[in-house]
Amino acid sequence: MNKIQKCVQDMVIEQGSAEPKTICENMGIITLSLELPKRVNGFTINRKGRWFIVLNNMLNDDEKRFTTAHELGHITLHKCTNSISLSCNTDFIVSKYEREADMFAAYLLLTAEYDSCIECDTVTVKQISQLAHIPEEKVDQLFF
Ligand SMILES: [Zn+2]
Repeated sequence: MNKIQKCVQDMVIEQGSAEPKTICENMGIITLSLELPKRVNGFTINRKGRWFIVLNNMLNDDEKRFTTAHELGHITLHKCTNSISLSCNTDFIVSKYEREADMFAAYLLLTAEYDSCIECDTVTVKQISQLAHIPEEKVDQLFF
């Protein structure tokens, strides 16, 4: 099990849920849907100790769910970094953070849909994509 899987597992046990929305509610994270530039799916801000996840209101429900999970990944894995500046940069360290947040989201959604899938070696790109509602090309980049 890698570091990110461990983080997901700890969070699911602690929060008693793998559903991003429920985890946000339990952790007191406010999620908002706002009009954002097309290429921005969402971002995370911290104001006076409270976390806000801002989602692009053009996203469909699956995309919002994935983006919420992705932002939860940033909050959990990258607490000390500023994700607003992150989402505007494209250098190596940023893509590493983005990849980690995507990975976190994928594991979390897989856990939400099908507990044993993370341990399963024979799962296909298509199965993961359908289970976690993640585009196939993203699954391919993350896991294979
Ligand atoms: Zn991100």
